[in-house]
Amino acid sequence: MRLSQYYLPTQRETPADAQIASHRLMLRAGMIYQSTSGIYTWLPLGLRVLRKIELIVREEMDKAGGIELLMPTIQSAEVWQRSGRYDSYGKEMLRFKDRHDREMLYGPTNEELITEVFAQHIKSYRDLPKNLYHTQWKFRDEIRPRFGVMRGREFLMKDAYSFDIDYESAKKSYWNMFETYLKIFKRLGLTAIPVRADSGAIGGDLSHEFQILAPAGESTIYYDKAFDLVDFDNEESITQVQHLYAAADEKHDAASCPVSTENLRQAKGIEVGHIFYFGTKYSEPFNAKITTPDGKQVFAEMGSYGIGVSRLVGAIIEACFDGEGIKWPTSVAPFQVGLICAKTHDPKAVGFADAVYAKLLEVGVEVLYDDRDDRPGAKFANMDLIGLPWQVIVGSNAVEKGVIEIKQRVNGSRQELDLTSFINQLVV
Ligand code: ATP
Ligand code: MG
Repeated sequence: MRLSQYYLPTQRETPADAQIASHRLMLRAGMIYQSTSGIYTWLPLGLRVLRKIELIVREEMDKAGGIELLMPTIQSAEVWQRSGRYDSYGKEMLRFKDRHDREMLYGPTNEELITEVFAQHIKSYRDLPKNLYHTQWKFRDEIRPRFGVMRGREFLMKDAYSFDIDYESAKKSYWNMFETYLKIFKRLGLTAIPVRADSGAIGGDLSHEFQILAPAGESTIYYDKAFDLVDFDNEESITQVQHLYAAADEKHDAASCPVSTENLRQAKGIEVGHIFYFGTKYSEPFNAKITTPDGKQVFAEMGSYGIGVSRLVGAIIEACFDGEGIKWPTSVAPFQVGLICAKTHDPKAVGFADAVYAKLLEVGVEVLYDDRDDRPGAKFANMDLIGLPWQVIVGSNAVEKGVIEIKQRVNGSRQELDLTSFINQLVV
């Protein structure tokens, strides 16, 4: 993409009303535009990150046996009356009427809709287990929308729902999702700590929130310091994580905490995911009955699994930024390479940069090419702000010696290379 033809409204000034780094940086990097309180337009650069996160989540869900569908954003009040949640949900639910005076709502979550769909077609143990999921916009009329996309009113969530024949099998589905979540966050370049969450009586211990450690977090969490040493790369450590203690504020009780004081850590966390088992809470009102191998009828055992896809964009930035701007992990970066022509008045340099651009596109590298006629200093600052993993600078040495300067955003390291060596380094 040539920057001269793109839509990237970056800002040098710090927006006054943004309180945390990720919100400020998303506005300054031209990723989002606030349409109204808690509701955002995703500008092209922001949308690319959102889509990448969505794709990684989808790939891992599919690998774990999830089946994707898409439920609507608008729901009828009837299904919520059936579960009893229409009255209990409160003001976070946006309610309105259609032209026939029927009560409608913008879905804040989808347990009701999915259970109704499931109950239409699945009747036998032979068809279980099932894990159905989608990635869809939700609306919650949060009392205090803030921190940009981290607590929006309209936000994108991946929500999955598992259906099983009995508790034992539901537990397996739960731990399968637990493991999948650790893999997802790892691929996103994050370390997410699974903390025991409060889910009322039904969930028991089968309820975890996944928290990214960051000072801007809204939750206080307590965890065993052993977490800091876990290498989330292998299966063994994932099993080990299941046994380590970490609890959200409301579940942590100093008196019965199994971790000694010197090993206990307290930190602020951003909740990026939440999984919980809730048994037959929805399968009963929706009559989602399953025939067992011995001919009995039982209600499906269910769990639900959410990931805040749009919140993650902010959460990743909170974990990856410095004074100059964002430092995207490669897996979610909007482009891999930012190409800068530092000599726009030298036709040879421009020709060289054009050729580098063409070659990078040819080998399938996502590149944003700053081909504008602007001061090099402004271009460098802009690239640091938007945080692409690699910067490729075409200056006087390109024309004279055929080498380009490569800067790695994450650590600021610089090297001079010829293009082929750089491409080999990228495409491994
Ligand atoms: P919170 O305690 O932050 O309000 P929640 O418990 O209401 O979260 P869930 O209903 O479990 O959240 O939703 C699943 C995920 O959706 C959360 O883990 C979070 O990542 C995301 N999420 C929830 N509310 C919002 C919001 N207002 N804006 C952005 N993401 C959200
Ligand atoms: Mg909430």
